[in-house]
Amino acid sequence: MPKLLLKAPTSVVADYFHLFVNRRAYTLQSNRPHPESARHYYYRPKDRKTGQGLSMTLDTIRRHVEGEITIGLYTINRATQCSKWVAIDADYENALTDLLKLSFYFRQDGVESALEHSHRGGHLWIFLAEPLPARDCRIYVCGLAMRLGIPVKRGRKEGIEVFPKHDALKPGRYGNAIRGPLGIHRGAAQRFWFDGAGEDIEKQMCYLNSLPKMTGEQLARLIAGKAIPPQLLPPEPKVEPEMRRHFSGSEFRILDHINTKLRTVGHNNVTRCPSCAEEGHDRSGDNLSISVEDPRKYICWAGCTRDMIRAAVGCPRTSPTCVT
Ligand SMILES: [Zn+2]
Repeated sequence: MPKLLLKAPTSVVADYFHLFVNRRAYTLQSNRPHPESARHYYYRPKDRKTGQGLSMTLDTIRRHVEGEITIGLYTINRATQCSKWVAIDADYENALTDLLKLSFYFRQDGVESALEHSHRGGHLWIFLAEPLPARDCRIYVCGLAMRLGIPVKRGRKEGIEVFPKHDALKPGRYGNAIRGPLGIHRGAAQRFWFDGAGEDIEKQMCYLNSLPKMTGEQLARLIAGKAIPPQLLPPEPKVEPEMRRHFSGSEFRILDHINTKLRTVGHNNVTRCPSCAEEGHDRSGDNLSISVEDPRKYICWAGCTRDMIRAAVGCPRTSPTCVT
């Protein structure tokens, strides 16, 4: 895709970092499609030597904007439980109509938003003057959507997805990442631009910088007396004693803890990764590969660690019932 590559001026990279980066952890979109789903998936890049997750730098942003890599941005900074922006992802039929409707009503509230086109619909962005609590952002945006009768995605039900997707992050979690704007979508082999400025990286950043940002005072006023719509509250965490019942030996075997459908592909059984599933990822159900020959060997394509997977199935490494 050489014609898609561009040169990003330093000021664009710095402005992008300031506007979009709220935590240093990030994801990368795969260059090649997943062998099972044929989709370009996201994973957490790691340092080859140390195995540590890579931290975002200005150079990461430069490579993303120029088109060499494509990154996903996490919404919530766990240290503050705040977000720097809200992004509304809609990719169903009539998605753009719903996004334009939202944008209209945001403006009635004095909130400016920017529409970025996407592969199948669009992403509507609201930028914040300072990082604000994820929970408050969700109360405002989800509440408005529901008052307007715009569906909010829950499970398999179609609707808008609001980033941040969580009110707060649990320890060790990252939450959901959204494709960083203005880069190249690997699957579509295309750049998607914001409405409101020409298809030029400097004009786009200039437009985003010029947008009024929502302040904490404004948000507090908009959500006064409101709470998260009850239908959007996360389900109570499940305690699954029946899953433990099958556990007999002293060794952890992932298959004892999987209750999603397995498909055999070559030497592996493939299924939905429990850790990805906790955050609403891996809907195509093929991130987790478990060796048929030795089910003690398993790996998540999206980069979840064994500890994350074990925690997600309710059997963390420290648990006395599961000895490694
Ligand atoms: Zn995973």
